[in-house]
This record gives sequence, C-alpha cells and structure tokens, in this order.
Amino acid sequence: MSFSAKLRILLHINLRRLIVLVAFGSAIISLANGFHASYRVQRQLLIDTALEANHAYALKLAQSTQDYLQSTRQQLAYSAGLLGPRFNQPGALQAEATRLREQTNTFNSVAVVNAKGVVVAVSPEALPVMGRQLATPGALKMLRERQPVITEPYLSSVGNLVIVISHPIVDGLGRYLGYVGGTIYLKQKNILSRLLGQHFYRDGSYLYVVDQKRRLLFHPDPARVGETAGANTVIDAVARQESGSKRTVNTLGVDMLAGYAAVPATGWGIVAQRPTTATLAPLNQLMFNTLWHTLPVALLSLPLIWWLARLISRPLMQLAEGASRMDTPGTAERIDRISVWYVEAAQIKRALLIGMSLLQKKIGRLKADVQTDPLTGLANRRGMDTALATWQLQSRAFSVVAIDIDHFKQVNDLRGHAVGDAVILRLAQLMRACSRDADVLCRNGGDEFLMLLPDASLEVAQRVAERLRAKVAETVIAGAGKVTVSLGVVASSQHAGGADAILRAADAALYHAKQQGRNRVGVLEIA
Ligand code: GH3
Ligand code: MG
Repeated sequence: MSFSAKLRILLHINLRRLIVLVAFGSAIISLANGFHASYRVQRQLLIDTALEANHAYALKLAQSTQDYLQSTRQQLAYSAGLLGPRFNQPGALQAEATRLREQTNTFNSVAVVNAKGVVVAVSPEALPVMGRQLATPGALKMLRERQPVITEPYLSSVGNLVIVISHPIVDGLGRYLGYVGGTIYLKQKNILSRLLGQHFYRDGSYLYVVDQKRRLLFHPDPARVGETAGANTVIDAVARQESGSKRTVNTLGVDMLAGYAAVPATGWGIVAQRPTTATLAPLNQLMFNTLWHTLPVALLSLPLIWWLARLISRPLMQLAEGASRMDTPGTAERIDRISVWYVEAAQIKRALLIGMSLLQKKIGRLKADVQTDPLTGLANRRGMDTALATWQLQSRAFSVVAIDIDHFKQVNDLRGHAVGDAVILRLAQLMRACSRDADVLCRNGGDEFLMLLPDASLEVAQRVAERLRAKVAETVIAGAGKVTVSLGVVASSQHAGGADAILRAADAALYHAKQQGRNRVGVLEIA
C-alpha cells in the first residue's frame, strides 16, 4: 500500500473532513494574522501616543519655565532700579533683599553685592556671608560681565550647589555699583521643584532638567543633581536646543519613551519620560478585549463552516457511495434520488446514470445472447430453462411439443450441410408461424426443437402440433424439397414431477411418433 493510501486510511480523510480542515485552517490563520496585526498596530499606537504626550508635556513645562524666568528677571531688574539710588543705605539694601526672598518664594536666598564682590545685604540674615568678599565662579562672572546673568551650577561660598540669577545695579550716572542676585539651591526644595515637581511619578514616569553642559539641574533623585549626564541621544538633542520625542535607554538601562524641549532663555533642556513597559502595560488588556470581541463571531462561524462542508460534500459522498455499489440492485434509483445542487455533482450524477444504463443494456444483451441459439434466433436450452423455472414458480400450467426432423442425416448427407441449415431455419420460421407470442420456442440441439405453450391444454397443444406437422409436410424447401417432422406432446397437468420429467415425457411421446412411422404427432398415453 502506498504511503498516501495508508495516510488516507489512518486519518479517515474524506471530502467533508478536507473541506472542514481547509476552512478551519484558513479561518485560524486569518484570525491569528488579524490578531497579530492588531497587536502591532495597538502597540505602535500606545508608543506614539506616549511619545507625543511626553513631547507636549516637555514643551509646556519649557514654556512655563521660560515665562517664569522672564518674570523673575523683571523682578530683579525692578529691584536693581530701586537699589541704585539707595546703594549707600544698608537698611534699604537689607529690606529689599528680604522682600525679594520672602515675597516671591522664587529664591532660596538673595544677596546684594558691591562692585568689589563684597556682600552688603543678604537674606536670610543668618547666612554667614555678610561683609565677605565672594570669589565663587558665579560671583566672578557677574562682576566681570556686569550684565543680567543666569549662572551655571556651582558651589556657593557656604557649600550649596546653586545657580544664581542676577541683575546689575548702576547709579544715576550709569556707573556700576554691583548686583542683586537671587540664588536657587539645587539640592533643596526650590522653585524648580515647585515648578516641575508636580509631575506624576506613579508608573515610573519622571522628568529632569539639564543645562547646556549636560549637568542635571533637576532630577527626582536629589543625589544626581549637579552630576553630568552620560551618553544619551535625548540629552544630545536637547543640548542642541531641539525639541521632539525619542525612544531611549536611561542610565539605569530602562527602556524609556522620552519627550524633550528646550528653554531658550537659559539653554536648559527639559525631558519628560515614561518607561516603555509601563506604556505597554494596557496592551494585554487591549488584546484580551480584541479577542473577546472577535470570539463570538469566530465561534459562530465554526458550525457554519461545518454545515457548509456537509452541504458541499454530501452529494459527492452519496454519489461515491452509489458508484461503489453498482452491482447491488436499486443503485440506479438511489443515485437518481440524490439531490445535486452544483454543476460538478450534477455532471458526475449524469455520467454515473448514463454509464449504469449502458452497462445494464450490455448485460441484458449478453444475457439474451447466452440464452439464444445463434442459427435460428430461437431460445436455446438455457433460455428454455429460464422460462420453465419462471412458470414453475408461478405454478403456471403449460404443454410441451417436442419436434425432431425425420431422416435429417440424409438431408445433410445428400444435399450438404448448408441445405441442412436452411431446413433448420425454415422449420424455425414455421414454428414461429404456428405459435403465439407467449409461447417459448427452443432449439434443443441438432434437429430437435421444443415448443412450450403456457396455459395450453393437451388438446390445444395437440392441435398446434398437428398444424405444424401439416405445415412442414406441405412446405417445399429450396434445395431440400419436402421434409417431415415427428412430434411428441405432453401437458404439465399430466405430471406431478418437475420440468425434467415433463420434458422426458415429451421425448417419449416423440419417440413413440417415430416408432409409429414418423410424420405424426405422438401423445403420451396416461396409464
Ligand atoms: P430420425 O428420423 O431418426 O430422427 O433420423 P435422423 O437422420 O434425423 O437422425 P438424428 O435425428 O439422430 O440425426 C441428427 C442429425 O442432425 C445428425 C447431424 O448430422 C444433423 N445435425 C445436427 N445438428 C446440425 C446442424 O446444426 N446443421 C446441420 N446441417 N445438420 C445438423
Ligand atoms: Mg431427426
């Protein structure tokens, strides 16, 4: 057995299973594909949305910071304007420093410094810098530049990491007197943490601020403030004063979705970021929802597919079943009853029916040939047996006339075999002429013939036999002249035995006729 035949038997492969398999297979593949596509789309959507949201948030914070710094500078400029004419009144300087610090909440400390860098007023007053000359990088820069300044982070003279926003003070003639500077302590609670620290830290999201030299001005981890940030494409971009969004990996190796924007006034960069995993956390629920919405239709389609497979396969399976049982009776009728609703099944059905009818015709012809004598076209011994068996089943009465040509051997010997055949043929014609349609005429072999007459009494059979005898006796056959026949008649009613006994009795009657001198009808006498 071939491998495919074994497989077919092992898996019970039939048309319905194949259709179901193909339909289920394609349904599952398209479902899985749709699912995968939906997963990819939703994932990208979540990432894009988070990037966009963080970008918008960073932009907004950059704008607020910019606005705030602007107003802070205006405040310092106003104070500087007030302090210029009163620079020699220590009380006025101190009052203004205190007002600046306490009124606006912007600065952790405020100092007024003269042109030599010596602190002339400070708030809070407890700071131990009053009267001291400052030599910090920030102080030196402000003295040198004599301009409004926002410094880089540096360590103040009392050890705080600070940035200072300052404004120069000049007298009525425009001579430089010093500056007023507000200080922001980066490592303590300050204006930046108030401004930026409202951010949601719930799911690992946070934001940080760097200056142009990549130093952290604000970070949720206070220990990192002042530190210079490492290699990071987001910080690179923000250092170039760009704004946008990027997927990146932070210093702790966490995959982040970052939005960033620059504060033009200072060159600072604000970065808002959220862990990618936190962003994608709702994805499982989304996919579950997708599945939940897909499943009912998918489940409904299963019985539908099964039903369609059944509908398509049924005619073909029924036709195949019919074709495999062509030899059983009633198959053609069963095939004819199969309802076919598509072209191919109808074609197969028609071909099967045509094939079967041709076969039946051929078989019928063969059957007839087998039961027919080829020379005369009369029934042969087999055909006769069939008729007799039928009548016996029906308990039908009949009579038998046995016929034998007299001295036929002589005809053959004197005139030749062909003339003998012509005599046999002619006798068959005469037998037909003397019989009814229902009678069975038979050549029993050689020059012996039988007439089976259903429903005929002995008398009727005798009359038929006599008529045939007379007809033969008066017929001139070309080449042979006249021939005679002897006949024996018997009725089934005379014998309780079977057909064989009746035929034997007819033979006996025929023999009797021959004994009596031929060309006569012999009748079996009933003892
Ligand atoms: P009887 O009157 O006693 O019947 O004499 P008969 O010569 O007819 O003797 P029998 O019936 O025994 O002879 C039968 C002959 O029929 C023998 C054979 O030569 C001849 N015969 C048998 N079949 C055929 C046939 O198909 N064609 C021809 N031409 N002759 C046949
Ligand atoms: Mg004979």
